[in-house]
Amino acid sequence: MININRWKILIIVICTIVILSLAIFFIYFHNLNENKTSIPTISSISIDNIADIIQENKAKLTKYYIYGTHFNLFATLDNVVFEDVNDLKPYLILKSNGNEIIKDVIFTYSNNTLKFNLSNEINMGINLEELLAEKYYLLLCVENTKTNEYNYYTFENTTEYNNLEYYTLSTNKNCNKIDLIFDSDITYIEGSVLVNQNEDIYDIVIDAGHGGKDTGAINGNYYESYYTYKISLELKEKLESLGLKVKLTRENIEDRPKEYGDNGRATIPNKTKSKFLFSIHLNSCEKGLGYNGVEVYRATKCNNDFASLLADNIVKYANTNYSNKDLEKYSNGVYTRNFTEEDIKSMDDDAKIGNYEPYNITTDTPYYFIIRESGGMVTSAYVDGRNKDLEKNDFYNSNSVVEAYLLELGYINNDKDLQNILNNQSGYVEGIYQTILSIL
Ligand SMILES: [Zn+2]
Repeated sequence: MININRWKILIIVICTIVILSLAIFFIYFHNLNENKTSIPTISSISIDNIADIIQENKAKLTKYYIYGTHFNLFATLDNVVFEDVNDLKPYLILKSNGNEIIKDVIFTYSNNTLKFNLSNEINMGINLEELLAEKYYLLLCVENTKTNEYNYYTFENTTEYNNLEYYTLSTNKNCNKIDLIFDSDITYIEGSVLVNQNEDIYDIVIDAGHGGKDTGAINGNYYESYYTYKISLELKEKLESLGLKVKLTRENIEDRPKEYGDNGRATIPNKTKSKFLFSIHLNSCEKGLGYNGVEVYRATKCNNDFASLLADNIVKYANTNYSNKDLEKYSNGVYTRNFTEEDIKSMDDDAKIGNYEPYNITTDTPYYFIIRESGGMVTSAYVDGRNKDLEKNDFYNSNSVVEAYLLELGYINNDKDLQNILNNQSGYVEGIYQTILSIL
């Protein structure tokens, strides 16, 4: 009896030592990690008491939007006193119970006012796809690098816009819903797990250019509208095999959708809360110009990487070449076309003839309607119903919009391009598919 009791005590003592050692080890390691972080963290502060550390004055949100998969914001903070602007370092922090995302911001400081934004590129900022199903508080942290003092602020929404909702890209037709919520006390972004099988929510919209009586460009018996549909359908099926939800703007080969209104090409992507829009076209030019190859058009203020990868992959997998056109070219195969002064004058003349107030178009406004109008306020969409000849774009002023690309896959009136499109359709599809695959 005595022996058994001694063994029991010994085991208890050993277990206690092991547990205590592990605890000490974890605490030590945790501190080590904390010390490594050079950017200020508020990890030591309990998320339950977050309201206690926030300053009374709030940063005023002057603009915010979702373009594609990214969230961007512009804000102002008054009454920030810094003698030397070099001591001022602001950050944006998303803080949840277990996670913290810290972003540098672009800022200016004058007259005790800090103005900042996440990115000057519309498809950059916070990648909403990276958020977990948690509640993240959205905070501005202002560091004084001289005194190592940190102040935290929440946001006050001073825009005409309200809460935003976002659906992440689907995996096997399921996705998460993310809400941006302007509470009167503190702004937060909350992710939740959602089963998305019956809802009319999509990931990607493919717009097969032209259709019906609008054949698009022609070379003999070859019609642009026929090939844009075939390519779009093949791309749709390939993307669906990944579990993505994909919608075509054209139901069939004869279909010719409107541009705006309820089922318009530019409105379907936002109605279905899609993240990406690819508008598929074949090009044509005057014979003497001799243009050929791939042109990817994107919105002007977009980061170029994705567009560039699209062009690279189409050239690689379709075994074709970048377009040899220099006009509006940004990088190999990537183009941005905006209104020119001449275009603007012609639009103003149209408004006079149509007897409506001219649109507010600048040389920063994207020329192609599919890129401009699908991007709502982010890309200066303007079809607001004032011109009675055009149906209203229901999302012209929306701040939660799709990221759009117009793909001119080749010149139908160039024999080499046409032969490649006829014989190597799957190569073009593969190029686009591989680019989308790279962001999943
Ligand atoms: Zn076209």
